[in-house]
Amino acid sequence: MLDSLSDRLQGAFKRLGTSGKITEADLDVALREVRIALLEADVNFKVVRDFIARVREKGVGQEVMQSITPGQQVIGIVNQALIEVLGGNSEALLSPDSGPTKILVVGAKGSGKTTLCGRLALKYKDDGRTPLLVSTDFERVAASEQLKVLGEQIDVPVWVEEKEAPAAEVAKRAMKEAERIGANVIVVDTRGAVALEDELADSLAALADEVDPTEVLIVVDAMTGQEAVTLAKEFDEEIEGTGIVVTKVDSDTRGGAMLSVREVTGLPIKLITTGERLEALEEFHPDRMASRILGMGDVVTLVEKAKEAIGEQDMKSVARRMRSGQFNLEDFLAQMQQMRQMGPLTGLLDMLPGGQQLAKQVAGVELDESFITHSEAIVLSMTPEERRNPDILNGSRRRRVALGSGTTPAEVNRLLNQFKEAKKMMQAMTSGKAGGGLGRMFGL
Ligand code: GDP
Repeated sequence: MLDSLSDRLQGAFKRLGTSGKITEADLDVALREVRIALLEADVNFKVVRDFIARVREKGVGQEVMQSITPGQQVIGIVNQALIEVLGGNSEALLSPDSGPTKILVVGAKGSGKTTLCGRLALKYKDDGRTPLLVSTDFERVAASEQLKVLGEQIDVPVWVEEKEAPAAEVAKRAMKEAERIGANVIVVDTRGAVALEDELADSLAALADEVDPTEVLIVVDAMTGQEAVTLAKEFDEEIEGTGIVVTKVDSDTRGGAMLSVREVTGLPIKLITTGERLEALEEFHPDRMASRILGMGDVVTLVEKAKEAIGEQDMKSVARRMRSGQFNLEDFLAQMQQMRQMGPLTGLLDMLPGGQQLAKQVAGVELDESFITHSEAIVLSMTPEERRNPDILNGSRRRRVALGSGTTPAEVNRLLNQFKEAKKMMQAMTSGKAGGGLGRMFGL
């Protein structure tokens, strides 16, 4: 997904120097590349122009922070600009305090509307709601069939009428049915557009009047580029959308539609779909998408997990200790126990910028469950003095610790070696020499 855009952007940043200030000339070179990368990804040219202006304004003359390179700093600025272009904050689907949630799904033919209706119904059903799917598309007979099949698959009722009738009338009857069966989420599929001709626009406007939807979702196929964005704008002008859903984000898309649609329509992207399976529906988070585009890994998810498991205060004090070289076996043990709450270390490294490389460096460090349990026993068998200052652990002390913890001296040695490795790695990470710099990432 978006691979070529990611590659090009990363290429652009490599050209920036590795020390000193961000000079205007350096920035110009990098920004020219960024501009080409975005245009090649089929981002709307006005969006690109504003984007570049924003980055330039923030970047020029900025003192480069200690411990990171100008390249990294500009990535930070571009990241922020990408987040803004993608909408800033995430926006959730509207759900009324009282009365049913009513969703109209509109968009181009073949963009993934019908599938989206199924996905939404499934999502709400999983949330404990009672959905009803409604087909108002008589043009494509297969659409109502498809909806029926989807409904059966997820065990959600589907309102389909055999005889052609105006969409608004079908919806009126469907809403009665919803009341009858106690459905509190009504998802209405609509006829697909090629262009938004008057007849369809009128029919959709009448449908919207009838349904009084809480949400009008305009579907944008990530694969179709700027035409999809233009069409989305037309839809919004005719029937007032509340949000965008970008579909087929898993495909080999260039990213232009996703990066333009917010600025062009002013509507938030609320959801994305990332595969043909019905479950492949995700809330849209501008910050996470920006990270993915920049190949920075899903740092936000990682930080979220870490903050949850460790608590920000703890993390700051541990990082301080790591930096000052005071990190000892007690901290190591506490870290491992916290890691256990966060999931396997290798999975965490994947989410880190440059994490895979790091994972290779520390391939010898296996932080699996039994290792943590053994380590705990070993550390607990040491005296407080030994935990704080592992260097005093000579042969006889190691044997005593092994005996006390029901392990072997070899295991004790292995733990001590791994502790040393971890200490080295952590010092490198907090000082910003490896990966993106954990300390900076956590805002320490
Ligand atoms: P509609 O004409 O707008 O109702 O579109 P459909 O829901 O029938 O979808 C058109 C095609 O796109 C179908 O083959 C779907 O399986 C496929 N599709 C929909 N969403 C996605 C997605 O997120 N990823 C991929 N790869 N295919 C999708």
